[in-house]
Amino acid sequence: MNVADSERVSSALEHLGYNYTPVIEEADVVVLNTCVVRQSAEEKAYGRLTTLWPTKRARPEMVINLMGCLVGIRDNPKLHKRFPYVDVFSAPSDPGPLVEYLIEHHGHAVDTAETVRRYAVMDGDLVLPEPAVGKQVIGWIPVVYGCSHACTYCIIPYRRGIEHSRPPEEILKEARALAAQGIKEVTLLGQIVDRYSLDNPTYPTLARLMNQISEIDGIERIRFLTSHPNWMNDELLDCVAENPKVMPHIEIPNQAGDDTVIENMKRGYTADQYRRLVQKIRARIPGVSIATDIIVGFPGETDQQFRNTYDLLAELKLDSVHLARYSARAGTVSERTMVDDVSEDEKWERFRAIEKLQEGIFAEIHAAYLNKEVTVLFEEKMKNRWKGRTPNNKLVFVDGDESLLGQVRQVHIYWTGPWSMIGKLA
Ligand code: SAH
Repeated sequence: MNVADSERVSSALEHLGYNYTPVIEEADVVVLNTCVVRQSAEEKAYGRLTTLWPTKRARPEMVINLMGCLVGIRDNPKLHKRFPYVDVFSAPSDPGPLVEYLIEHHGHAVDTAETVRRYAVMDGDLVLPEPAVGKQVIGWIPVVYGCSHACTYCIIPYRRGIEHSRPPEEILKEARALAAQGIKEVTLLGQIVDRYSLDNPTYPTLARLMNQISEIDGIERIRFLTSHPNWMNDELLDCVAENPKVMPHIEIPNQAGDDTVIENMKRGYTADQYRRLVQKIRARIPGVSIATDIIVGFPGETDQQFRNTYDLLAELKLDSVHLARYSARAGTVSERTMVDDVSEDEKWERFRAIEKLQEGIFAEIHAAYLNKEVTVLFEEKMKNRWKGRTPNNKLVFVDGDESLLGQVRQVHIYWTGPWSMIGKLA
């Protein structure tokens, strides 16, 4: 989501005539797009802001824009006070304040304001920022902004505002624009992406939206994340199973495998309902991979409750697990009403236990691909290997100098490990 937001800012800046530079000290405008989902991310944002200060002092004309969840949707006077050298504060997904500031202070023609804002966010006419053009194979399209679910641990709804789906015309226009610029795969984004259109019944469902996107020439793959178990319905599963352009990969976090913990998180399902959903997805979509997010050390999580999460993961053998240690976020329900009573050491221990479990599971899942052929879309070159993904999102590397960028090729797998596989072109 933040990558998508940053691309929109870059796109807007290029329309004002700015070019990308990797050298911060040389930049006229620095945009720091921030995440605060965990304390560590917030600390990192403060750290980066602090390191910008000497440059800003030496070159006061440099414009610093602090953007994203650190700022949030409401004006935050404390932040202004703490970082007086920040010129512009802007909410997640909104290049507007920066564009307006630059137009006002740097004399860009006023009528470009509307154009730039439209280009960047509104009507989907997205032009990829220069560093991405011709190099980027995968594009990101936000389809649901904000979130209204309010899981007790989560700060996102407070910082990104209420859930609202983007109009389908905008999304389709953006997908067409990305395809015209060489993008082969689009990932549709939302905090609860499978709720797309539920806040506006005149919009198509996510399944119908993806079917429409799949008709765009040049778009070869469509993915979507993140789904919530309660909104994953048969129509969506049928779409993934039947539309060859919609990739068989489902990101559907359960966060925990213990009913009490899940209830305390206010997620709205039981471990057994999640188990049956996984079974249903696997039965409906051959070759599907399923990813989850897990938080260990939620307030009050006992050894036994953690065990229940561990055992469920051991049983389900999911394809990917994004693991986090619980981090109390100021203002959330869990921070205000529960005690963060699992020690840091204990959180780490639980974290490592699942990490170790999953490493074995991933190795086992990948080993099944040894000496088999898989279809890979190549995304980028890393050192002397091309990196790509299978339809079900497995990471594959192939040796070679011949450019494979943006190509879909058959690959014979000759090595597998827990994190990736290596193969040669078939
Ligand atoms: N809206 C998506 C993704 C949210 S952020 C969803 O709910 O699935 C990505 C992940 O960060 C979450 O899935 C969760 O596992 C983790 N996360 C969110 N808040 C957290 C917190 N306070 N402490 C630790 N991990 C957290």
